Amino acid sequence: MKTILFNLNDSELEKFVTDMSLPRFRSKQIREWLNRGAPNFNVMKNLPEDLRNKLNECAETLPVKIVKKLESSDNQTTKFLLELIDGEQIECVLMRTTYGNSVCVSSQAGCAMGCKFCASTLLGLKRNLTVNEMFAQILVAQWELRGDKLKDIHPNGDANNGDVSHIVVMGTGEPLQNTENVIGFLERANSEMNISWRRITVSTCGIVPGIKELNKWGRPINLAISLHAPTDELRSQIMPINNKYKLQEVLDAAFTFSDTHNRQLMIEYILLGKKDKNGDIELYNASNEYAEKLSDLLYGHNVMVNLIPWNTVDERDFASISGNSVHRFQDILIKKGIHTRIRRERGADIGSACGQLRLKNAKK
Ligand code: SAH
Repeated sequence: MKTILFNLNDSELEKFVTDMSLPRFRSKQIREWLNRGAPNFNVMKNLPEDLRNKLNECAETLPVKIVKKLESSDNQTTKFLLELIDGEQIECVLMRTTYGNSVCVSSQAGCAMGCKFCASTLLGLKRNLTVNEMFAQILVAQWELRGDKLKDIHPNGDANNGDVSHIVVMGTGEPLQNTENVIGFLERANSEMNISWRRITVSTCGIVPGIKELNKWGRPINLAISLHAPTDELRSQIMPINNKYKLQEVLDAAFTFSDTHNRQLMIEYILLGKKDKNGDIELYNASNEYAEKLSDLLYGHNVMVNLIPWNTVDERDFASISGNSVHRFQDILIKKGIHTRIRRERGADIGSACGQLRLKNAKK
């Protein structure tokens, strides 16, 4: 098996280099390229060509390889399908926005949570990702943004500077089932890529002990809760995790987290419809009554409700609802004094919702 050089520490990389009878300084040159996200050895222009060829034969740069790269029609979103060393595939998405360059990172290959509207969980959980496998996803995005052009020294990488500036752990998988590695990854992203805590968001379906662990960790990141329903009865129908951790318990842990760190809590709410037997679309979690219930749950707390149009997943029997219904739901929240916005759909044309690309590729 080829050695993945990104997985070696400095002394291991030095040994790897000297074992090839190369001078020690080569390991420093290689490390610099690895830290910029070099996808292969051919791009390492300060290494002699025969060495690059030799390295290509016996080693890999990163623990992830790009299998597919899709660009949205507005060129603002790039989605990567990546392959890990054991053949598992994961997705990661780069979003260029007015406030910066945000990378949506996967925390697991597959997912065990079983949410009824989501594509990521359809093939079950394969395994947790390592710290390096998560870090490598932001390096893939960084290389996409900057390639081999040298980076200026700039604190808190910023949009105009063309670096990755924001991380959302909202890709495939449940981050709080892999909390230790997610924390290890974010610590490195903060110290090595200069990404500030407030530009990092972790999204969870509501694993209460994991939220408490994040609280103990103590970094002022943003927390997002995938709520999707305002009653236990409805939530348990679409999110099996709700049978283990009830709505109020999840919200209490989340409010404690965001109050402790003085951050606004993000609530994610996909607006779902369901087809009746005539093929007409009925509101599922998006009725006026549910909007009122959601407002009552959140009133008085520092929250932002992100209303998310559902990205169609063929295998799932939900349906998107009309723009009018979305706005009506939002209006009720606003009248009740709840901050809310409608999430702009990004990359819907390239299957950017959780797990769609990986699923499509696995079926072939
Ligand atoms: N497991 C974590 C993070 C991954 S999911 C969590 O549950 O938060 C990231 C977000 O995308 C979640 O809010 C999830 O519910 C939502 N999502 C999943 N499938 C979707 C779809 N088809 N359309 C829109 N959003 C979806």
